[in-house]
Amino acid sequence: MQSLKFSFLKSIAPLLFFANLAVVFSFWLSVSLRVSNLLISLGTLAGLLAAYFALWQLLLIGRVAWIERFWGHDKLSRIHHFLGITTVSVIFFHPILLVLGYSIDSGEAPLSHFLGLLSDYKYILALIAYLLLLSIVFISLWIIRKHLKYEIWYFIHIALYLAIILAFIHQKSGRDFITDLRALYWQALFYLTLANIIYYRFLKPLWQSLNCAFQVVEVKKENDDVVSIIIGGENLEKLEAKAGQFMIFRFLAKNFWRETHPFSLSEAPSGGRLRITIKGIGDFTKKISNLPLGTRVLVEGPLGLFIPERSNKKSSLLIAGGIGITPLRSIFEEFAKTGHAVDLIYSARAERDFVLKNELNLLSNPNAKVHYIETDKTGILTSDIIKKMIPDIIERDVFLCGPPLMMKSVISELKKVGVSKRFIYFERFQLG
Ligand SMILES: Cc1cc2nc3c(=O)[nH]c(=O)nc-3n(C[C@H](O)[C@H](O)[C@H](O)COP(=O)(O)OP(=O)(O)OC[C@H]3O[C@@H](n4cnc5c(N)ncnc54)[C@H](O)[C@@H]3O)c2cc1C
Repeated sequence: MQSLKFSFLKSIAPLLFFANLAVVFSFWLSVSLRVSNLLISLGTLAGLLAAYFALWQLLLIGRVAWIERFWGHDKLSRIHHFLGITTVSVIFFHPILLVLGYSIDSGEAPLSHFLGLLSDYKYILALIAYLLLLSIVFISLWIIRKHLKYEIWYFIHIALYLAIILAFIHQKSGRDFITDLRALYWQALFYLTLANIIYYRFLKPLWQSLNCAFQVVEVKKENDDVVSIIIGGENLEKLEAKAGQFMIFRFLAKNFWRETHPFSLSEAPSGGRLRITIKGIGDFTKKISNLPLGTRVLVEGPLGLFIPERSNKKSSLLIAGGIGITPLRSIFEEFAKTGHAVDLIYSARAERDFVLKNELNLLSNPNAKVHYIETDKTGILTSDIIKKMIPDIIERDVFLCGPPLMMKSVISELKKVGVSKRFIYFERFQLG
């Protein structure tokens, strides 16, 4: 059951967002009263909003625990995406409106006014920030992104930090915010955001990894494509990791240390060890079985809100597709332990693809049942199959994890049997 404290904490981030947005609007009103034309007024508003939204964008991708913990990475990704488009839409108009507005005031041609600005290095920095932001959004368009390697897309995306620092230098030198309380406010926002990023993205993971001394203690082949990695360490209880959550791992071994990758905990964390179970699908995951024992591990997280505590009903249904079993395996274990009634529908193409089957069978009991579906034989999961297996489906909440197409189809089948989207929790194996 979600607690009152949880609901309160969940509303902190939106409250902060809207309260500060109101402050930003009040700044704009105070500036607007003094400017000579509407174009300058709107251009100023666009600049203020873009600067404000860009700081939130950093917080949203910064794995900041007080935001991540209460929204979950899936919702965060969607907010990040939506706010990204909004930010770029407003930033696009900021220089255009201001150049037009000030050139009307001065009687100068817009182009010569614009070129005149470029004699000041701060406007050159602003132009670089502007072009960087537009390029990042262009590259993030799905049609472009799907042709890029994840790592390349990621490093280009990281240029957002640079764009925001350049924009901040430009903003600090702006005509309206050089001195007074408003300047202090912006600086406070900027430095608080920076402090959050440095702490959550760099210091906390480093400190945590040193304190817990994570290292690989076992590499276990589950089948031809899937490997489990068991990571031992000290003080693991201090992580407060929950079943269903994921972490971002950097393995400090030759050929592995350059990349970080997210993986869900495939076992409810306990007894001084963490376990992840990985399917080989690309460069990194296909070589993971070669990871040497004793490899030190840097860990970010635990992250995500795909956790048993989300359940609001007396019983739950878990639906896993393929390697999507990993977070659900640990959630199933947690429910089975606490006596919460649960059914797990585990669908995979064929018998050999049911990884972790033995342990699921061992965990099951009359209150916690597992149903296996071989899609090569029975076809995909339909509303009829779901209803036949779980006649009281409408009384349950549903936890879902699997390949994107399977999740989309299952969500629409669940809606057909009357399950509200509000009671479907899902984890997508994709960041950003
Ligand atoms: C929250 C979450 C939990 C996950 N849990 C599991 C799990 O328990 N077991 C499992 O097998 N897989 C899991 N994944 C997927 C796993 O992270 C990717 O399969 C893996 O990173 C692919 O790397 P690759 O270089 O081998 O493959 P590639 O072919 O390079 O990438 C395949 C896809 O994986 C994603 N990806 C690649 N590199 C990264 C990266 N460094 N960081 C983030 N995403 C990346 C991209 O969407 C890419 O299109 C999870 C992903 C997320 C987001």
